[in-house]
Amino acid sequence: RAKESGGAQFRFYAADMKLRAQQTATLDAELRHAVENDEFELHYQPQVDAESHRVVGVEALIRWRLADGSLRGPGAFLQRAEAIGLMLPINTAVLEKACRQQAAWRDAGLPLRVSVNLSPVQFRGGALPLQVARILAETGADAGLLDLELTETTMMEDLAVVADQLAEIRALGVSISIDDFGTGFSSLSYVKRFPADRLKIDQSFVRDVLKNPADAAIVRTVVTLGASFGMTVVAEGVETARQAVFLAEAGCAELQGYHFGRPMPADDIERLVAARAQRQRAGGKR
Ligand code: C2E
Ligand code: MG
Ligand code: MG
Ligand code: MG
Repeated sequence: RAKESGGAQFRFYAADMKLRAQQTATLDAELRHAVENDEFELHYQPQVDAESHRVVGVEALIRWRLADGSLRGPGAFLQRAEAIGLMLPINTAVLEKACRQQAAWRDAGLPLRVSVNLSPVQFRGGALPLQVARILAETGADAGLLDLELTETTMMEDLAVVADQLAEIRALGVSISIDDFGTGFSSLSYVKRFPADRLKIDQSFVRDVLKNPADAAIVRTVVTLGASFGMTVVAEGVETARQAVFLAEAGCAELQGYHFGRPMPADDIERLVAARAQRQRAGGKR
């Protein structure tokens, strides 16, 4: 009896695995096609000054535009893209698009800092600083308005190789942010070894910051750490006005999260910035 149900169980798993393998193969083919056809676009999420709530920058976040017009988020495909060697072409295109948008905004009188997420593969081979310089030159973007975000996973790659390239990139005038800060294993040694301008407190510490004293303590600790190392601290995942007040009082310099705006197309960023500026002239904070 047990054996029988075990057999049925096995057949179920086998069928399930076969289905998954088929789905992965389909996704791989779609991804290769998407890279060739440039089906990726960027949405931008505002980052605001914690005191004035003025938009000081945006984070570029990749979206995959499907044939039916719907969007697929990075969680649904980036890991697979990485596995089949498409991360480098995808991220290079992202950097180019973000720089082109930054230059267009600046030319339209909207000098916004644009942050771009990097992935570990981009540091292999050591060509990233040159590539960044080339893209800045080709797009006419301002180095001082470009920010590159990397996580501790990226920094774990090859310490010396990554640190050297970060120094070269910063020498161009581009700033560096450490993303998802606090979720890795050796946050402190990275802060010591890697030249960075901003620490982004991971949203997992922000979510319950008003309810959980441990999260509040972590936020305060990261703010102190940032101050000691001359880094600006940014809180991610801010979803409510009360969180925003708390984080500003705790000393975070910038805030990012659904409360201030979801990731949105470039045109909507322009509208948002214009609307906020108008409200500010009218005297209100938000
Ligand atoms: P991330 O860089 O930490 O980006 C923040 C993520 O949190 C984004 O998800 C954003 O939509 C989401 N988020 C922002 N505010 C809130 C909030 O208030 N509440 C909640 N619950 N979520 C919020 P998204 O766009 O799905 O991106 C997920 C991750 O994918 C990013 O995390 C980043 O690691 C990666 N990613 C996105 N675009 C790119 C890219 O162009 N290149 C690379 N290498 N990675 C990317
Ligand atoms: Mg990021
Ligand atoms: Mg993050
Ligand atoms: Mg993340």
